[in-house]
Amino acid sequence: MLALGLLKSAPAHAFNLEGKGKGKKIIILGAGLAGMASAYELTKLGYDCTILEARERTGGRCWSIKNGSRHNEVNKQTVTANFDEGLYFNAGPSRIPHNHELTLHYCKELGVPIQVYNNVNESTYYFAEGKGSLSNKKIRAREIHNDVRGYMTEMLAKTMDNGELDSPLTKEDSQKIVEYLMAEGGLDADKLYKASARRGYIEAPGAGDKPGKLSDPLKLAEIIQSGLLDPDFYNVAEYTYELQMTMFQAVGGMDKIAQAFEKKLTPMLKLNAEVSNIQNTADGVKITYKDKVGTHELSGDFCICTIPLPVLSNIKNNFSSNVSRAVDYINYNETGKIGLQFNRRFWEEDEHIYGGITHTNNELTQIFYPSYDYLSKKGILIGYYNFNEKAKQVGELSYAEREQLALYKGKLIHPQYDKTFEKSLSVSWHKTKYSMGGWAVYTSETRKNAYPALLKPDGNIYFAGEHLTYLNAWMAGAFESARSVVADLHSRNTESRQTYPTQTTKG
Ligand SMILES: Cc1cc2nc3c(=O)[nH]c(=O)nc-3n(C[C@H](O)[C@H](O)[C@H](O)COP(=O)(O)OP(=O)(O)OC[C@H]3O[C@@H](n4cnc5c(N)ncnc54)[C@H](O)[C@@H]3O)c2cc1C
Repeated sequence: MLALGLLKSAPAHAFNLEGKGKGKKIIILGAGLAGMASAYELTKLGYDCTILEARERTGGRCWSIKNGSRHNEVNKQTVTANFDEGLYFNAGPSRIPHNHELTLHYCKELGVPIQVYNNVNESTYYFAEGKGSLSNKKIRAREIHNDVRGYMTEMLAKTMDNGELDSPLTKEDSQKIVEYLMAEGGLDADKLYKASARRGYIEAPGAGDKPGKLSDPLKLAEIIQSGLLDPDFYNVAEYTYELQMTMFQAVGGMDKIAQAFEKKLTPMLKLNAEVSNIQNTADGVKITYKDKVGTHELSGDFCICTIPLPVLSNIKNNFSSNVSRAVDYINYNETGKIGLQFNRRFWEEDEHIYGGITHTNNELTQIFYPSYDYLSKKGILIGYYNFNEKAKQVGELSYAEREQLALYKGKLIHPQYDKTFEKSLSVSWHKTKYSMGGWAVYTSETRKNAYPALLKPDGNIYFAGEHLTYLNAWMAGAFESARSVVADLHSRNTESRQTYPTQTTKG
């Protein structure tokens, strides 16, 4: 009936499970969003949950760095942020897509205020290091976007006009397409791309005799030769399903979502409790953990393990061999961010940039401008947000070297850095204790041969987390996975057939 469109699929928030947990003991490993959402839902059903969390805080990767936040990377000293009160940056999640129903559902249910996150801003820059005539210059996104769109549509319109396009279109259809191309690219009556207000002004329009002065388009060949059409600069934000506006963020930092769960779960939460052994037993599970007092053993009926796989792969266990193999095989990426505090919001005051992202082809990859406290005095920029090889290289540096790099490269775009920078803190997630990676990255091979092993319980142990979904790198993945496992476990415990409608959409 679903396939025929006769039945509407259940929305993600339809989660009315029947039956009671009758006090069965569930031990949940990890107080990230997956662990806490599992505990929250299971508690509603009458289960007796205990959450073991290795860190001194909840939230896992859902973490906003503010004054006093402490950060731990392997082979490095613990660092403490000393940003000004009220300032923060999201070291992990910073954006909630409007189509992530479950993330928004929990914000609503738990009373977490949200605000619009400005992910797309035509005033930000493209900056290509290189040897082209447009290299090493900052160019507004609107200039590149409109010029490239204009030239491409001009070429297509000419091709259509000349009848060079091998397509079965009628003359009228072809005419419609040409009209569309002219509108899309802002072409003139001769179907040529020329300067227009779309790409901005060199002198803004004003009162009286000030009509404004349009800026001239860049040359297509120069754009290409300067690397500005390379993959580093693909205009992904508006096209990618999850990154399309409207996007949201939690007011005051994304970890307000984690803190809202924590408030509901305090009595069952053990912080600073590092799990060191996970064992299936004949009638349940036995978990060993260490805290400040010593080593403890905890027995339960079931366990839900949300520990990220690169960490789990080094924890003692008696998993079955296909589960162990999956834990070892599935890869996570390298990724890092640095928060840079400035004593003046020069990007707003001097450059009219309010939120959004500048793109580079150097180690920085991206600079994120804050989507909160507009027009206030100070602010924190995310000075880089990089991935894979670039994140790996930057992750090898000391904290001071990372700061130097962010400032040195950032100054090429914003010379104001020199006079306004105050302090920083950087996070390399693949070096961060208890995470050891940004998020799970599947190949078709690991998706086919490793992923399925973790979707089923191994004896009395269930697995949940961002990594067990097709929503990798999203909080929604943690929530969807938690609900899926809660439904499975509850179904087994109540011997009823209750399945969770899994979300299958992915852009
Ligand atoms: C840089 C970055 C950017 C992101 N951007 C976005 C975004 O914009 N929007 C979005 O929706 N999502 C984003 N995400 C993804 C989102 O943060 C994750 O999908 C989600 O937070 C994962 O939750 P989880 O519960 O599955 O895992 P985690 O948050 O990793 O939770 C696992 C928990 O297990 C604990 N643990 C580990 N080892 C042990 C142990 N031995 N004993 C006990 N506990 C242990 C950890 O401390 C942690 O608390 C981003 C992630 C990163 C890293």
